[in-house]
Amino acid sequence: IRNLVIVLGDQLNHDSAALDDFDNQRDRVWMAENQEEATHVWCHKFRLVGFFAPMRHFRDELSEKGRQVLYHALPTDGRKARTSNFASLLTTTLNEHDVQKMIVVHPGDHRVLESLKTVADEQSVALEIRDDRHFYCTIDQFRDWADGRNSLVLETFYRHMRKQHDVLMDGGDPVSGVWNHDKENRGTFGKSGPGDVPHTHHFRPDDVTQDVIDMVNQRFDDHPGKVDASSFDLPVTRSEALTLLREFIKHRLCRFGDYQDAMWSDQKYLYHSRLSHAINLHLLSPREVVDKAIAAFDSGDAPINSVEGFVRQILGWREFVRGIYWTHMPDYQNRNALQCDDDQDVPSFFWDGKTDMACVADAMRLLIEAGYAHHIQRLMVLGLFAQLYGTHPAKFHQWHMAMYNDAVDWVSLPNALGMSQWGDGGLMATKPYCASGKYIKRMGNHCKGCRYNPDEATGDDACPFTTLYWDFLDRHQQQFKNNTRMTMQLKNLQRKDASQMNAIRDRAQMIRRDELDL
Ligand code: FAD
Ligand code: SF4
Repeated sequence: IRNLVIVLGDQLNHDSAALDDFDNQRDRVWMAENQEEATHVWCHKFRLVGFFAPMRHFRDELSEKGRQVLYHALPTDGRKARTSNFASLLTTTLNEHDVQKMIVVHPGDHRVLESLKTVADEQSVALEIRDDRHFYCTIDQFRDWADGRNSLVLETFYRHMRKQHDVLMDGGDPVSGVWNHDKENRGTFGKSGPGDVPHTHHFRPDDVTQDVIDMVNQRFDDHPGKVDASSFDLPVTRSEALTLLREFIKHRLCRFGDYQDAMWSDQKYLYHSRLSHAINLHLLSPREVVDKAIAAFDSGDAPINSVEGFVRQILGWREFVRGIYWTHMPDYQNRNALQCDDDQDVPSFFWDGKTDMACVADAMRLLIEAGYAHHIQRLMVLGLFAQLYGTHPAKFHQWHMAMYNDAVDWVSLPNALGMSQWGDGGLMATKPYCASGKYIKRMGNHCKGCRYNPDEATGDDACPFTTLYWDFLDRHQQQFKNNTRMTMQLKNLQRKDASQMNAIRDRAQMIRRDELDL
């Protein structure tokens, strides 16, 4: 074999740089489903199908194009896989074939990158790592941008990207006169609710996907969640992903901006795109997604607060978190700025959703059913609870990797450990996203049907978010005293009298020790 082209599970684009000079006669593609990857974190069954089914479809598409693929599939019948981890599977292939060189596009996981380098060294086979052109910004370009800056601020990076890629620009100025329509992204559904939200496409599993569903249910039957032909509805090919993109642009982008931060019970996607899984697997490119949104603005089908808000997520946040990951790994994964206890894990109801807290139970129901929660549920419900509860940031990230369809290390780690848990001490966010139950009350309807009261911090009816919020500020006030963005919150804390604070601390302690049946 001249070149062994390694295609990882989140690199399913036919225009990948790894395939640039592929010779159908002399080269082979190598892909592997491996047991270790699936059990390294205790993955949700839905997520496993969401990764393995697109891989098998991509394998078949490559074969149709005349590419020869060495594909290691996990057997359905539950027999032990030939070898179980990435490194040993690759080593076996290198021992069985005379391979001159391995080619791979830069992986999205530091651990996988190191593992590849180690195998290449041990087997004395050359390894070429190519830039991933899926992203707007290469890792080196981000390093150059970050070099010499005291702090890395999303807004500065976002403006730089807008100018560099001429996105929503009118010459040197933003097309609408302002860079950021964030203030127009905070609408709520008021008392009447969201009404009829256009539903999203349900992709029916074909035979290939059904085989994966069967395999996952056999091999990983003790993993969280469940998956079957009627529930699995993710796109597994580029053509299905394009259908999802078209549908979002046509029916939901127009209100995405207004309701980006809103919540409503029993509403899975609201006006969110649900595209992260397809984009992260490279079934869609961020450029085409951004271009389609801008075309909707140009044709008058979507307003600027929606289109700019959406572009900010993809061209801004998505590229920014990748830059943070690769400029700060491997140390980043060990950061724990709030000094949480090493063994403080997520609460048990983060696995089964069994809690009376209406907002948490609702987010968990959707997560268990479909491996999805929208951004505000991730950040301001589940993430917020984990942070106030004192969960160790690495444990929160592990839980996130286990549960969400779109979780890949480069994007989950900065979001989960950094943005949500403030584990990186302010690289991703200038202040922690901490709030009481009143925020959740304002943004949706969950508190109405909840046994807890968001306005109370003590007593049997006290909302656990509210109790833990004051306790969080109390525990970390020294750390935040010089952070001007925390001044108001800390001032409010000073207004609590000693007996109130003692009652809050006691109740918070009981929550953290799992002594209350929440
Ligand atoms: P939309 O709300 O429709 O947003 C559009 C797109 O913007 C998304 O599809 C995504 O590609 C991109 N995007 C938006 N915000 C971010 C962000 N902060 N970082 C990167 N991309 C962003 N996103 C992931 O793709 N994978 C993860 O593992 C992940 N983990 C997260 C963990 C936490 C605790 C939080 C708070 C956020 C996380 N995010 C993650 C970001 C964001 O919540 C999801 O991208 C989004 O909810 C996916 O749903 P959607 O496609 O409907 O997004
Ligand atoms: Fe969530 Fe508290 Fe509101 Fe209940 S009262 S829904 S726990 S914020």
